[in-house]
Formats: sequence, structure tokens, C-alpha cells
Amino acid sequence: MISGTGAGPVVVVALDFDSAAEALAFVARLPRGACRLKVGKELFVSAGPPLVESLQREGFEVFLDLKFHDIPNTVAQACAVAAKLGVWMVNVHASGGARMMEAARDAIQRARHRPLLIGVTVLTSLGADDLAQIGLAGPTPADAAVRLASLARNCGLDGVVCSAREVVLMRERLGPEFLLVTPGIRPAGSGTDDQVRVATPGSAIRDGASYLVIGRPITRAADPASALESINAEISRMRQEGPSE
Ligand code: C5P
Repeated sequence: MISGTGAGPVVVVALDFDSAAEALAFVARLPRGACRLKVGKELFVSAGPPLVESLQREGFEVFLDLKFHDIPNTVAQACAVAAKLGVWMVNVHASGGARMMEAARDAIQRARHRPLLIGVTVLTSLGADDLAQIGLAGPTPADAAVRLASLARNCGLDGVVCSAREVVLMRERLGPEFLLVTPGIRPAGSGTDDQVRVATPGSAIRDGASYLVIGRPITRAADPASALESINAEISRMRQEGPSE
């Protein structure tokens, strides 16, 4: 099913660079209004809040992908500071537990600008053996992810990050409104890099993804603006066609 997200671009370009200079030089090649940007740990440790502010001044909305996981008070304070920075989206590990997620939600609700709050369920790098090793024996990674996503929803989070292959199941279990933010996207015909289970932009949207996190197919393209444009065209086509049941 095709999820109804709010207005604005669906593609979130992952700025996986290690310096502000590189990130800004890349961003200068992107058209405004065609994507949002994701700043993760690598770039944030290198360039910090001033870079986030520069990107926002350039007219981009920023997903601050720092995956907070700590005691409730610490995570709540970090989320409050992120809200003050003006980011569009911020995330926390759902495995930090209900009290931690509720504290994060309360902190951003008190903020003047409220970012979207997203949960990380099971990292897609973890398999069943890894889960057993850390004491999460029993569920398959997909079961564990759905359970954590339900908990995140019950704690008032806006959505979760999930792999494109989990989108159908997540939509079924979590309803039409919950945001599903999906990495591992590869346009048809492009290489997979180190991603194993990939989906095309169109199929992820058809299955119910709300936002697509896309890195290398855009950041490493010879012409990033035209790579982004053709991905956006594929998304629009899919939305016009509707789901093919
Ligand atoms: O270059 P690529 O499109 O593979 O980048 C995807 C982005 O999404 C990277 O920033 C990566 O860290 C992130 N990500 C992912 N898989 C997850 C969660 C996040 O690839 N399960």
C-alpha cells in the first residue's frame, strides 16, 4: 500500500562524508526542494551542529541520524537539543525501552519546533545468531523488529527505520499512518554496493515506505541532480499508478 506522507520530498540523501567541506560541495550540486538530507555519526562527529545549521540555511530539512540509546534522561536531553537545532527528524534505539522512548517523546513535545521522532528496531546488520548472542534468542530478526516497532508506536513515536524487505509486514501490523523510513534502496540497473537485500525506489513506495534513505546511488553519481530527478520521477509514477495488487 502507498503511505500518505506529508508534503515535501520523500528522498532523504545520506550525506556519508567525513568533512563539512565535502558535504557542502556535494550539496551545492543538488536542486532545492527535491530531497531532504541525512546527517549521521561520521559527518556529525566531524562537523557538528554548525554544519546542520548551514544545511538548514541552504533550505534543506535534516534527519539527524545519531540513533540515541542511553538512560531516559540523557536521551531526552539529547532530543531536546536536537529539536532546538531545528532538525526535521531525529532517532533513538527502540531497544532502549519504553521509558527511554517516552522521555524522548515528552522532550520533543515540549520543544518549540517538534522534530519527527523515529525508532531504530533491529539493525539490519544483525542476524538471528547475533540476536541469540546478545540474549535475544527466540524471535527471528523480523519478529523482533515488528515487536520493537509496536512498542515504539505505543510510546508515541512517529515511525521506525526498517529495511525495504520489512515494509509490507510493518505496514500490515502498524497501520497506514506510522512512518516507515527505509534504507537499502537501489534504482534498477545500479550496483548494490555492500547492501544485500535491496529494493527499487518504486517498489519500496508501492510496498508502503514513507521516506527513502538513499546514499551512494546519488552521492557517487556523476550527475547527482539527475540521479535524484530520475528517482523522484519513478516515485511520482508509482504514486500515480497506485499499488499493483
Ligand atoms: O549508500 P547507501 O544508499 O547504501 O546508504 C544508505 C544509508 O542508510 C547509509 O547512511 C547507511 O548507514 C544507512 N542505513 C542502512 N541500513 C540500515 C540503516 C541505515 O544502509 N539498516
